[in-house]
Amino acid sequence: MSKTISKAKKETRGFLTDEHMMFRDSVRKFIEKEIEPNYEQWEKDRIIPRELWTKLGEQGFLCPSVDEKYGGMGVDFIFDVVISEEFARVGAGLSGIGLHSNVVTPYITSFGTEQQKQKYLPKFASGEWISAIAMTEPGAGSDLQKIETTAIKDGSDYIVNGQKTFITNGILSDVVIVACKTDPKAVPAHNGVSLLIIERGMEGFTRGRKLDKVGMHSQDTAELIFENVRVPAENLLGDEGKGFLYLMHKLQQERLLTAVGAIVAATDMLELTLQYVKEREAFGRLIGKFQNTQFTLAEIATQVKIGQTFVDDLIIRHMEGQNIVTEVSMAKWWITDMARKISADCMQLHGGYGYMEEYKIARRYRDIAVTPIFAGSNEIMKVIIAKNLGL
Ligand SMILES: Cc1cc2nc3c(=O)[nH]c(=O)nc-3n(C[C@H](O)[C@H](O)[C@H](O)COP(=O)(O)OP(=O)(O)OC[C@H]3O[C@@H](n4cnc5c(N)ncnc54)[C@H](O)[C@@H]3O)c2cc1C
Repeated sequence: MSKTISKAKKETRGFLTDEHMMFRDSVRKFIEKEIEPNYEQWEKDRIIPRELWTKLGEQGFLCPSVDEKYGGMGVDFIFDVVISEEFARVGAGLSGIGLHSNVVTPYITSFGTEQQKQKYLPKFASGEWISAIAMTEPGAGSDLQKIETTAIKDGSDYIVNGQKTFITNGILSDVVIVACKTDPKAVPAHNGVSLLIIERGMEGFTRGRKLDKVGMHSQDTAELIFENVRVPAENLLGDEGKGFLYLMHKLQQERLLTAVGAIVAATDMLELTLQYVKEREAFGRLIGKFQNTQFTLAEIATQVKIGQTFVDDLIIRHMEGQNIVTEVSMAKWWITDMARKISADCMQLHGGYGYMEEYKIARRYRDIAVTPIFAGSNEIMKVIIAKNLGL
């Protein structure tokens, strides 16, 4: 039995079947062969090559829950979780792949017409087309009602003008779901928001800067510019004026998977640090024998365990279709905040080596910092929780 299979078999999480564990094993084998040997280079290149996407597609590692008739495998959400966890074990730079499969694709499966599903889903599943979702603008992030990108009807087309920023897969994407104002005067403002599917090659659609980030280096993040882009009305996703509602509906899964990624990163930071303090000595003792180290790691291990237990419960409830917006908001803020804090503690226990790029904890420290900010900032998560507490 291979080392990876025996590791996978140790799983005790109740929702994982033998099929999920076998699938995890095949994802791990793929990562060992195709991703780990190249990951450092992609971090330096500040992008992941397109070839990886098509290789992932060949293996069924993109959009696995999409129906078989549209090129997916028609499997349950746990398969998406397994892929997200395995990618997160390597590093946060792969998160654009999860965004494609688990955030953008569900908009098409839930709100797309039959024609849109047939056009986009098979190419999303094969990796031939890479997707992105563009909500944020230079002047509007948390307050999405304030977006200024407009899509004004002209005959049977929309004319789109505006700019988006911080867009994951911004450079590589072939298909972008863009939040626009089809009725800029609507009251309340969110009733004027619609989603349009904009494709690479449409005249007037260009990329701005590839943004230089503190971390998540291999994930491309970019600005998108729309200047009089003529978009056929058939590229409207769902109904006009319902874009904001659709976004709110789909954010539960995005935020849950952000929490999944953060708990994987936290677990990895704990393991890296445990290993380090069991090897490094000072004053004739292992670092792990100082009470400060023991208490710090005991606290971290407790928080990681609590976070994992919470996330696992939410994974099941999300798969059952429950409305768990409040709980997912709690998990998103608490786990990302915890992971960010422990990244500093784990770096501290590595001493000077922790600040060196050759130690993985340094990259974890850089990468985790964004998780309390994106997918809805942690302050916005608390706004949602407070609102649902009746405040
Ligand atoms: C690496 C990366 C990838 C991203 N990928 C995407 C993507 O693919 N698509 C996309 O559309 N966007 C993406 N984003 C954008 C991200 O979702 C936004 O950055 C985020 O929603 C915050 O918006 P903002 O940056 O405009 O901050 P602002 O909204 O300006 O917030 C600034 C600060 O004020 C706080 N704040 C705002 N409102 C309140 C309030 N009501 N109460 C209390 N505090 C408040 C915020 O929490 C934050 O701390 C990405 C961002 C990053 C960094």
